[in-house]
Amino acid sequence: MTSTDVAGAFHQRFGVSPSVVTQAPGRVNLIGEHTDTSEGFVFPTAIDRRVWVAARVVEGPSRLVSDRLGDAEPFDTRGEIPGDWSRYAAGMAKELASWAGRPMPNLEAYVASDLPIGSGLSSSAAMEMAFGVLWQELLRLDLSGRELARLGQQCEHEHIGVQCGIMDQMASALGRAGHAMFIDTRNLDLAYVPIPSTLTIVVCDTMKPRELSDSAYNERRLQTIEASEVLKTCTLRDATAEQIEGGRDQLGEVRYRRARHVQSENERCHRFVDALREGEIDQIYVLMRQSHESLRDDFEVSCPELDAMAEACWQAPGCIGARMTGAGFGGACVALVERGRTSVFREAVSAHYLLHVADRMPRFLVCESADGAAVAG
Ligand code: ADP
Ligand code: MG
Repeated sequence: MTSTDVAGAFHQRFGVSPSVVTQAPGRVNLIGEHTDTSEGFVFPTAIDRRVWVAARVVEGPSRLVSDRLGDAEPFDTRGEIPGDWSRYAAGMAKELASWAGRPMPNLEAYVASDLPIGSGLSSSAAMEMAFGVLWQELLRLDLSGRELARLGQQCEHEHIGVQCGIMDQMASALGRAGHAMFIDTRNLDLAYVPIPSTLTIVVCDTMKPRELSDSAYNERRLQTIEASEVLKTCTLRDATAEQIEGGRDQLGEVRYRRARHVQSENERCHRFVDALREGEIDQIYVLMRQSHESLRDDFEVSCPELDAMAEACWQAPGCIGARMTGAGFGGACVALVERGRTSVFREAVSAHYLLHVADRMPRFLVCESADGAAVAG
């Protein structure tokens, strides 16, 4: 997909040319899962699958069309947030309006995307960042990528009802081709770490939709907050393994395991970054596997399909490491695979997965890391 394709689709639909085309990538998190709501460490990379938006300013109301989800109900950027998919755009308009101190103009917009929706690749953050960059460009708003990411996170909190961390929006806003992003979600410090060119990212979609994941996500978030209150730490990011072991009785079994996941995952995230920098391939395999097992057993956000997929990856030729990625309860595993072996890898994973999950054909996305959200033309 190119900006010319998207501009052409806009023209076909609205009979005029768009004034701006933007794009924002999805992301996959290599390690550091469910840590960002505890101000922890994450290690995502933006991927070369994107949401594109072609648009022009109109008097109103806003009319949005998606090549995937069809026509949205018309809405006004100064009015109520709509109930359909356009709420991601309408929510960003609200957040930008309070940042800028003036309303965002209404739009005619055509949304096109080659990023799977609801697979844990954060198409919602890509929507937010694509529309954010759009209004930023139209009004020449002096907003950094970090600030835009913050507004996207606020959009999910205030207008979507998902109490997400900031990783997804940071990755989509600030991604860099050839690199993953080591982010401290407490102060938003960011270090770009090269991904060795011998590795390819393969997203292995279980094709199980992430049902109930929003409510479960919010529940997990509450449990981690409660655990940090019991341990008298600011957030779980500050809790040591010794503190968590020592507080086991007061925490109770569930909060103890939630805390243990966050603490051990933060540690794994650091070790993974070191292993990638040093080219310690064996460590990558071990750490990704431990991450999956901790998400399965301690944080309890996996499901039989994700477990079958992870097992399939671990056994497949060319696999450098694999684990579930994203919020969980469906969605995808991420695997790092030796470049040039992705075909044999996919065949083996597919066969193994189908033995255990007979009713769902898995889907594979072979990805490259990519640059972040930007004006595309
Ligand atoms: P994820 O972020 O993991 O893909 P979410 O449930 O958080 O899943 O966000 C998916 C929602 O984002 C969709 O239900 C839809 O409302 C919106 N969305 C994503 N991509 C598109 C698109 N191409 N066109 C219209 N809406 C989209
Ligand atoms: Mg999302």
